[in-house]
Amino acid sequence: MLTTRLPDKVEPYRLAARAERLAGLMSLDRFERLAEQVGAQSGDCRVWLEFGIDAQGRREIRGRLEAELQLPCRRCLEPLAQSVASDFLLGMVTSDTLAADLPGTHEPVLVENEQLNLLEVVEDELILSLPQVVYHDEAHCRVSRDQLSSGEAPEPSEPAANPFEVLRHLKGKK
Ligand SMILES: [Zn+2]
Repeated sequence: MLTTRLPDKVEPYRLAARAERLAGLMSLDRFERLAEQVGAQSGDCRVWLEFGIDAQGRREIRGRLEAELQLPCRRCLEPLAQSVASDFLLGMVTSDTLAADLPGTHEPVLVENEQLNLLEVVEDELILSLPQVVYHDEAHCRVSRDQLSSGEAPEPSEPAANPFEVLRHLKGKK
């Protein structure tokens, strides 16, 4: 079980030269771009990184991440627990080595002044690993439940202007 926290920045050339491995946690609430896309998250992302130099002399990072996220259901917008995981292969590039020189197998990551912004890299990978759409099971989705119990008075906590509700009314008018 991982307990250590990963630093926000690392010196990737040094780590690659020593073929070092890092494993640790990053708080999900640090990822602002992720929050903009799918709402605020809590808990940790688990991250494993292997730094190295391949036969062609390219400095690379093999990585894996895993996290449990609360993603909005596409139907009712209520959060739904979803596990995401991703394996990735990164090639380090600096401003003077072009990302285009990397083979297609590697995603470029920018190293500036010998520093790699690990927080940004992990957030990018996490965003890439998001599923396109998530739905509750019919039985657990509020929209489906409402459809089944149509005719009953709506719950007082129900938001007045649910965009999906509006959409359904529009569709019904066709
Ligand atoms: Zn739902």
